[in-house]
Amino acid sequence: MSEAEEIEVDKDTANPSKAWERIRVHQQYIKGPHLDPSTPITEDKIRFVCISDTHGKIERSPLRMPPGDVLLHAGDFTMTGQIKEIERFDSYLGFLPYKVKVLIGGNHDLTLDEDLGEANLRSFGIQKPEIETYLKSRGIKSVKQMLSHALYLQDSSVSICGIKIYGSPWQPRFGGWGFNVERGKELLRKWQKIPTDTDILISHGPPVGHGDLTGGNNNVGCVELLNTVQKRVKPKYHVFGHIHEGYGVTSDGYTVFINASTCTRRYQPTNPPIVFDYAIPEGHSKEELLSMEKGS
Ligand code: 5GP
Ligand code: MN
Ligand code: MN
Repeated sequence: MSEAEEIEVDKDTANPSKAWERIRVHQQYIKGPHLDPSTPITEDKIRFVCISDTHGKIERSPLRMPPGDVLLHAGDFTMTGQIKEIERFDSYLGFLPYKVKVLIGGNHDLTLDEDLGEANLRSFGIQKPEIETYLKSRGIKSVKQMLSHALYLQDSSVSICGIKIYGSPWQPRFGGWGFNVERGKELLRKWQKIPTDTDILISHGPPVGHGDLTGGNNNVGCVELLNTVQKRVKPKYHVFGHIHEGYGVTSDGYTVFINASTCTRRYQPTNPPIVFDYAIPEGHSKEELLSMEKGS
């Protein structure tokens, strides 16, 4: 494999459909691979179960969740990040049988974005002082500490049995929601934080070209995210959601791209979880999962 390249902002970053038209002719675009969730789980591999964009719906009309070792959720687990939604989701996570549950935020999980101002939150019916009073009453400093059953990632990584996972909630600006960042150099700055030894990348939004096609047939994924994935980080898996219509699995022949959106465009939680197996690196074993179990 060639040396990692320095990534620059694409000239068509503001027009991802145009950028993808140009980029796609130089690379493979493969549908799948799909692992059947009924395939037996083995000791030498971690079975990852991917969901995303559950929007407070799976707690009330639970999905059939396949067996697995580790759950990955790529953000938008609420509609607006209200305290009640976060509590409900965390207790739902507590009931799921996976040993580790990795979670990132999405643009709907507003209270997790600590940069959002009071006025912005108020426009979504969220009163910041109420949130602060609530946190104080529980003796915690931030909303993420409410996620007692999740391993919450925000521009950070975790190593699970030697498999390195990095999570990032940022996505191209769309409306006045959370974790919004301008396309181009600002988003690239977020992607520059992704370590090159990342095996599994979780972001809320898709890269351009993979799982990013809207109902209007426009590619809306981030061009700099695709370039970062393909030219610098080269993870084996990239898991995301956000564009609900883009649900499914594709590959460029090296990285497998998983749009795990559970909800459809109409916010119906009907897309099945997507699973994959990752071989445990030498010197590690599944037993390490037991010491990572959070909560009860
Ligand atoms: P959410 O509001 O749950 O983040 O996204 C829901 C839907 O909004 C997506 O499935 C997609 O149809 C639309 N959407 C989200 N982000 C964008 C964007 O950047 N551009 C366009 N055209 N649609 C978007
Ligand atoms: Mn969503
Ligand atoms: Mn979203």
